[in-house]
Order: sequence, then structure tokens, then C-alpha cells
Amino acid sequence: MALSGSRTEFLAGDTLGGDIQYGRSGGCFVSTRRGIMCALLVAAALVLVGLLVFYLAPCPHGGQGASAANGTAAQATGGPAEGGDTASSVLPEGPGGGDASTETTPSSGAPVNLRLPKEVRPRYYSIWLQPFIGDPASNNFTFKGLVDVEVFCESAGEACASVSLHARELNVSWDEVSLRLLPAGVSSVEAPGRAGRAIGKKYNASADNASAPAAAAAPAPTPETIAVTAHAKSAEKDMITFSLAKPMEVGRNYSLEIPFWGNLSTSLSGFYRSHYTERTGTEKWLAVTHFEPTYARRAFPCFDEPAMKARFELHVARRQAASSVSNMPLRSTEAIPEQPGWVWDHYPPSPIMSSYLVALVVSELASKSAPVTSPTSPAFDVVARPDLLPTADYALSIGPRILDHYSDYFNISYPLPKVTMAAVPDFAAGAMENWGLVLYRESLMLFNSSISTAQSQQSVASVVAHELAHQWFGNLVTMDWWSDLWLNEGFATYVSYIGVNHVEPTWHMLDKIVTEQMHPVLETDALNSSHPVSVEVQNPAQISEAFDEVSYNKGACLIRMLNHSLTEEVFRSGLTNYLIKWTWSNANQDDLWASLTEAAGNVSGLLLPASVKAVMETWTLQKGYPVVMVRRDYTAGSLHLSQRQFKLEGTDGAGARDDRALSWYVPVSYATGEDVKWLQDTRPRAWLTPEHRDGLNISSVTAPGSNTWLLLNVQQTGYYRVNYDSANWRLLSDLLQTGPLETVPAASRAQLLSDALNLARAGLLNYDTALNLTSYLSRETDAVPWKAFVRAYSFLDDMLRDSREYTHLQAYARRLMGPVAQWLGREARPADTLPQRQLRATVLARLLRAEEPDLLNWARAQFALWLNASDANPIPVDLRFEVYCAAARYGGEREWAALEARFRASDQLPAERSYLLRALMCTRLPHLVTTMLERSLEEGGDIRLQDSIYVWRSITQNPVASYIAFRYVRQNWDSIYARYSKVPFVLKEVLRSSIEGLSTELDLKDVLEFFKLHEGQFSVAARTVQQALEKLRLRVHWRARHHAQLTAWLRQDSAASAAPAPTAFTPTPTPATTPAASGSSTAPASPAPAASTPAPVAG
Ligand SMILES: [Zn+2]
Repeated sequence: MALSGSRTEFLAGDTLGGDIQYGRSGGCFVSTRRGIMCALLVAAALVLVGLLVFYLAPCPHGGQGASAANGTAAQATGGPAEGGDTASSVLPEGPGGGDASTETTPSSGAPVNLRLPKEVRPRYYSIWLQPFIGDPASNNFTFKGLVDVEVFCESAGEACASVSLHARELNVSWDEVSLRLLPAGVSSVEAPGRAGRAIGKKYNASADNASAPAAAAAPAPTPETIAVTAHAKSAEKDMITFSLAKPMEVGRNYSLEIPFWGNLSTSLSGFYRSHYTERTGTEKWLAVTHFEPTYARRAFPCFDEPAMKARFELHVARRQAASSVSNMPLRSTEAIPEQPGWVWDHYPPSPIMSSYLVALVVSELASKSAPVTSPTSPAFDVVARPDLLPTADYALSIGPRILDHYSDYFNISYPLPKVTMAAVPDFAAGAMENWGLVLYRESLMLFNSSISTAQSQQSVASVVAHELAHQWFGNLVTMDWWSDLWLNEGFATYVSYIGVNHVEPTWHMLDKIVTEQMHPVLETDALNSSHPVSVEVQNPAQISEAFDEVSYNKGACLIRMLNHSLTEEVFRSGLTNYLIKWTWSNANQDDLWASLTEAAGNVSGLLLPASVKAVMETWTLQKGYPVVMVRRDYTAGSLHLSQRQFKLEGTDGAGARDDRALSWYVPVSYATGEDVKWLQDTRPRAWLTPEHRDGLNISSVTAPGSNTWLLLNVQQTGYYRVNYDSANWRLLSDLLQTGPLETVPAASRAQLLSDALNLARAGLLNYDTALNLTSYLSRETDAVPWKAFVRAYSFLDDMLRDSREYTHLQAYARRLMGPVAQWLGREARPADTLPQRQLRATVLARLLRAEEPDLLNWARAQFALWLNASDANPIPVDLRFEVYCAAARYGGEREWAALEARFRASDQLPAERSYLLRALMCTRLPHLVTTMLERSLEEGGDIRLQDSIYVWRSITQNPVASYIAFRYVRQNWDSIYARYSKVPFVLKEVLRSSIEGLSTELDLKDVLEFFKLHEGQFSVAARTVQQALEKLRLRVHWRARHHAQLTAWLRQDSAASAAPAPTAFTPTPTPATTPAASGSSTAPASPAPAASTPAPVAG
């Protein structure tokens, strides 16, 4: 799955352009004493949250505020409202249900085992589903279904006397549940369709559009039938259990048949509904599934754990005007005589797979196939709204090529007969890798070069490559349990860079992984509230929380480090062995380490300090990462290396290492000015290990007495930071300022900027040293180092944005970025590479925020041109969001209203719509900020639930919105909780974004009161809240510790040059009064910033 809820998506995504900001803060004007108070209160908050997590985590359904706001469909048909989160409605009774039933409610005491019993397992599902959607006259947004699951019992005894499986928000027809012994030797696995033939007839007899369950007659008792004597429902476990009159026999197959019905939800999970409006104005509805991680149980009763693999045979009833698509290619369609206008679509059985990978879309979307390139390649097609189908061409052109590349890379053919990629108008995640049917939100699959930015194009490619990598890593071989989610997501994320690099070699993806994946997570993973990638999870809330930056980004970085440490040859052969060994099955990280160890054993001369397992467990079972401290003996030409955990709170003093301190097996690659070729070689030349308690000495690194530079962790392939003695920092700074820049890889330049500025942030390096190093950027033209800088700079911008020295920071940014901005110009040039287009957007966005006068005039003129344009949008496509945002930020109500009108008319343009929505949140007018927050909460309004995160995420970029947001959340918590309690990805964003703009003791007091008042409602966002509070404490700490030093440097820097005064945005733009409109929009014909700057790669 590609995330939308976490910031990961935004990192690779189109959603925030190049200007990604983590750990935003508002200002915090406090004295030292009040700062300490503030810190104490935050600490108290952490304790409180910890207690909340401890007591509430095992009770995922314990919220008392669940509302029936989503129940419109059920209300219309007189059925129960769609699953409120309370115990009594988790499994609402269907008509006629409810004898011999017991129901357990959430316990409040000891943790409960939420796992299914291991003894009874599924082998084969035959699933019949009929969503009542697609006909405006009779949509009632319900679905009914029948599941026949072939089960068997693995061991004799008590465990075989009952069957437990997952179900949630489903109405089961208890009277009609049956369990029958299949004749010896009979299994659907050998005879697919067995269950289907029998059940289809029964199912068809029921009436159209009924909210009642399938009116199948209760099966007549036969000698093979085992009576179900009772059923029990556990809301806490999302489970139903059937007690049997006698135990099942070991070694025999049984058919468990369960009729049920449910509502097509509005929470974008399980089996849910989505809609769009065609250009003709007709509203269309579709029924879509999203099951990862624990939502298949909301669509049909099933054994909803990743290791309970089985084959799935789907049968879908649809209206004739619609079509369906699922994991497998359609086998046949037949009319339903009993239901005129309806047909069954029958699908062949899937391969053995996990329930979370089952997928289905019933819609009137259109499809298009890729040309068949070879008889062995799978069929490949895309599905989208008919009006948008042409914009799926880019995804369709790269998808098959990436899939072919992976077949080669993994040395295993794609195992299914087809791949379908569908763009769905409403989708919670970024995308989902369902086997053979990958689903995307529209903005991450559709690409229109005249509307979407370079960053959007990269996001589409990255997400396609991520989901296709899962077809092997995740789908063919699946993690045993969600605690190893990082294996799935880390691999898919890492391999996606290899996939995109294959189809778009000019994008330099293998450098970008450093700034897109590593730098963001190095910040999160430096918090005490971080967690190991391999994390214990039990309940659905904890499982959902595991889908975070640590699993995705750190997972990818650890795999990358392993790849570079083991060499490509060993890595790939170990990977292929692992995938072959565990095909159709489940594995854990130890299984991967075993395969890699075996592959490493076949290669001589590989430098490894211990087994792959021992090395990697220091990285996967421990949170955090080290900073390696380098002390050089220049006279002897040797090094001394030591490690300690890097924390953003800083580690004062260089005292002896604490025995309880964490340590790692650290691969050490390095290069020096005497041996530059090592800058291209990422293999470890040494390992710093936990056994090196006094550090590691390496001799003969340079010639004795040499005064050349040394760079450790080449291209930042190791997941750690490096700190040097001050002399070496000066040598590295000189290298960047005056040396031949092209000899230092872009990833290493990015690394130096990120390491220096973050070491300074943590108090481990003087800010003067870090900021002096940044001045080399006036000769930098590569997007990767710039991205690293802008990320670190954003923190400084947050910290100073309400300080009197902010003008000096703005001037510093303008001076630093001036040369590269001039070199890039404002219009895309035909020879531009994609990274150059991204760089232009990144730099100009920052300069607009720094109120660069000419650029502001230009943006104002562009906005006016756009307002007056009759057809094509005249603003350069990569800068549209920035121009819109500048208009909203520096303009008034008129500019905002103009943007808002365009937003309302943009439903046909998903990418443009997201730019406009975020731009509306750039306003500095408080009442308009509040308007947007309110609109994001409206159900059925013009901000889709999936898009509401754009509104909240934007808050942290806007100081005015930051001041308003938390107060708004507190005052409107009941309606926010009612709307988002079942949509964790939005709820987390609301909490994080509204807290991250706060920074005073008074704010903290308010936050604590708020949490106390609503305790019990934060279990799905426990870690999010912890991290937001820790970051708040760190901001207070930073201000007390570093503010003075930073501002002194800035004042000194500012004195060196006179900054021009900022210009205001003209409130009523008209082309006639914008003199800067002429001429200034073209790139100045200026030389590259410095003679020794590497020539940009021609497109
Ligand atoms: Zn994924």
C-alpha cells in the first residue's frame, strides 16, 4: 500500500511540491523558566498519553462517541445504521437472527488475545456479492453476500469443535449458517466452482435491492451436516464463533456457508461506495473494496490474518450497464433470470493469497489495454472514469515495462494472468497492491502533462513501481504477521526506486532516495517516541499505526544499506532464493536473513562482522540510529570512530558510553582527497560494531601529515549520521566551496547538508559551521542537495517565523537561492530534465515565501493572466500551485474567491483540484481558514473525505492557520470525532497538524485538558499524539538553546549585504497595472552560477 495518511505519500507525492515540512512549529515566546515549565508539562503529557495507550490500546472499539452519521443508506431502507463503533452495533442483528447467541463486549482489564485459533484454517472461498448501486432510482447502498468457505481442522481435539472467523459490521443470517462435511477427497482446490454451482441457484432466488440477507432456504439436515449449536460474537475481537454439535474430523474438508448483508460504507474501507460526476452532469456511483490491513472482514466473514492464505473464487452480481473487475480475469457472465437487468460475473479462483489482497470494483469506469508485447507477458490494462481515461496513458506506458523489469530483477515471472490498475475517485490510501487489481487514488495514477507538475509525474511513476513490486514482495511472499509489515513496505519502497530508475533513467532516482526516504525518517527516528521497524502489534488500531514512516522509509533505507553492504550480486541472489523458498506462503525477517546469509556464504571476500541476522537485528529490533563520531589523527593519517544514538534532543558532553545505550553494526565506507575514487564505491571498508566499546581505530587512511578532507558513509548508504572534528568539517566545506563539485556525488552533498544542519539542531555541531557550509549552495544546481537543504531550512523557518530576526532569515534564503533561481528561470525549457523542473518549483516556492520582490511581481502578473485567460492556463505548469498559493497568501478575499470558484469547477481535473484546495489554505485571513476547516468536515460537501487531509496538512505551513486550528479542533471535537473516528488516516492528520503549530505553555495546558476530557478517543492515533507532543517539547528546548546563536549568525550574514524591501501582493490584480508582467516571466539568459558547476544533464 502506498500511504496517503502518513507524510510518506507527501514526500514522494505531488501534494506538497518540493516543500515538505516536518515538525512544524509556531513561535514560542517563553522565558527560560516558563520554557522549563512548558517542558515539564509536555513530559506530563507524554506520561498521560502513555497511560492512555496502555489502557486503551487493547480496546479498539471502545470509543463512546461513534455516530451513525454514515448511516444514510441504511436509514433509507430501514436497516440499522452502518457500523457504529459501539459494541452493540459491531455486529448488528439481521432480520430473523439472534438465537442461541452470546455477545462479548470489550473488556477493560487484561489484554485479550485477538488472534484466530490456529487449528481451523481456510482452504478455499467461494464468495457471492451483490452491491445495490449504479441505478439512481434504486440505489440503497447495501450489499448482500454469501460465502462458502472450505475449512479443515489441523489437529484433533477441542479446537475442532468450533469455528472462529472475522466479521465486522456485517449482518449475518444466523439461522442459515451451515457446516457440511465434503465427501472424502473432495476439495474446491481440485474442483473449482463446486460451491459456486450449488450456491448460485439458491442466491438467485432472492429479490433485487433487498436489505435482507440472501433468502436462501436453510439447508436441509443431511448425515454430512454438523449442527451449529450456538454462535458467539466478540466485538472486541471482530470475531464470530460457531459451536458445533461434534468436532470436525482431522484431514477432512468442510463447507461453511454464511449468508450476510451489509452497507456500502462511506469510510473508504471494507466494501464502500464512491462517486463522481460525468462531464454531462450525470452522477455515477461505484462500489469499491479496500481491505488492508483488517477490512476484508467488513465485506465478508473470513479468516482475516495474512498467514491464513487460501484461494478466492468471486461471483459478483451487477446491473447490465455496469462492469466489474477483480483480481483474476473475468471467466463468464450470465443473466440472472430472477432479477431482470442483473447479471453474474464469474471469476476463476485466485492463487493462494491473503484475505487483505482480495479486490473488487463494480462501476461504469472505462478501460484500456496495453499492446501485447510478448506471448509470455501478462495482459495489462488501466481503468478510470471515461472522461479521464486518456490521462492513464502514462501509467499504462510504464506499468508493463516496470513489471517486466521486476520479473528479471527477482528472476521470477509475474504469477497472475493479468494486471489491472484502476483509478478510483475516492480512495483512502495512495494506492493498494491487490494482487492483479491495483487500486489508486486518481491523482497518483492519472497524469496530464498540461495540468500536472513534474513532481506529480514522478509520484505516479513511484507509486506504480511501489505497487507492482508488492506483486512479488507482499503478495507472492507475505509477512507472517503485521509486526513484520516493514518487510513488505520497506522492500516495495526501496525496489520502487529501482523500477522507476529503469523506465526513467534521467530522473536520478537512486540519489533521490536519500532526500525522499532517508532524511524525513532520520528526523522521526531521532525521537524517543519512535519505534523499531519490527514492532509488536495486536489489535487493528496498532496494526493501522504500523503503516508509518518508520515501516516505509526506514524499512527502505535498511534494505538499501544491506544491498550496498552485501553487494548487488549477493543481495539479488539471496532475494530470489527467499522469494522462491516462500512462494505462496508467509515468512518473517529471520527467513530473509537466512536466505541472504546463504547467498553471502557463496561469495568469498565479503566483509561481514557477524551473521546477517546479528547485523540486521541491531537495526530492526532497536529504534533509532547512531551518529558516528570521527576523530582524525592528521599526523599519523589515522581515524578513531565511535558511535552513540542520535537524538534530536541532543547528547551533551562526550562522556563514557552508558552501558544501557544502544549500539549498532555500522558499515563504514569512506573516501579522502587522496583517494577520490572511493566516493563511487559504497562497499564497507570496515565495520564499527557493538563490540568496539572504546571505538574503532583505522590506520593508514591518509598519508601521515596529510591535510586533505575525509568523507564517511559514502552517498549516505548507511542509515546513520556522521560528525567530524572541526578541522575536517572545514576541509569538507572548502571542498564544496572551491573544489571540483562534480567529484562529490550529489547524494553525498545532500548528506553533508543534512548531517551538518541536523547535528547543529541537536546541539552536536556549532551552527556557524553548519551555516557556513551552506554558502556553497550558490554554486549548486542539482535538485538532490537542494532538497536536503530546503528540508533542514524549513525547520529554521518554522522556528523564526514569529521572531524579529525572521527578516534576516528571509534575506539569507534570497541570497543563497538567487543564483540558482536565475539560472533556472521561470519557464520550463525543452531541454529541462525532470529533476531540473522539480528544482525550479522547489527554489521558487521558497523564494516566494521569502518575498523575493521580482518573483512576487511575476506571480501576481501570472495570476492576473490566468484569471483573464479564456482557455488554456498560462501559468507554467510546475509553478501553478505556488502562484495560486502566493495569491491566497498575499492577496485578499477577491483572490481567494477567484481560486475557490476554480476549485468548485475542477472535479474533472484531480491534480489541479488538489493544487487549488491546498492553495485555498494559504490564506492569512482567519475567517477563511475557519471556512476551510468547516468545509473539510462537511459530509457530502465538495471536499472529498480522501482530500480532507490536504486541508489539515496545509495548516502547518501557515502561521495564521496554526494559531486557529487547535482551538477549532477543541471546540468542534464531537463533530470531528463523529466524522473521522473510523477514518484513522484523517483523524491522525487532524491531531498532528493542529498540535504541531503550538508552542507555548498555555497551549500545552489546553492540549492536556483536551486529551483528558476526551480520553479513550485517541487509541488509533496514540503514537501520532506522542510524537506531536515530543516535537513540541523539542521546539521549546531548541529555542532556549540555539535561538541566540542562530540569529547572531544571521545578523552578521545580513549585514554583509542590503536586502531589498519586500513587495506586497496587489489586492486587485489586473494585467494593465502589472508592469512586471512583460518580460519577467522568461528565464534570464544568465550563465550557470559558477564556472566549476557541473553542467546540467541535457534532457
Ligand atoms: Zn506498499
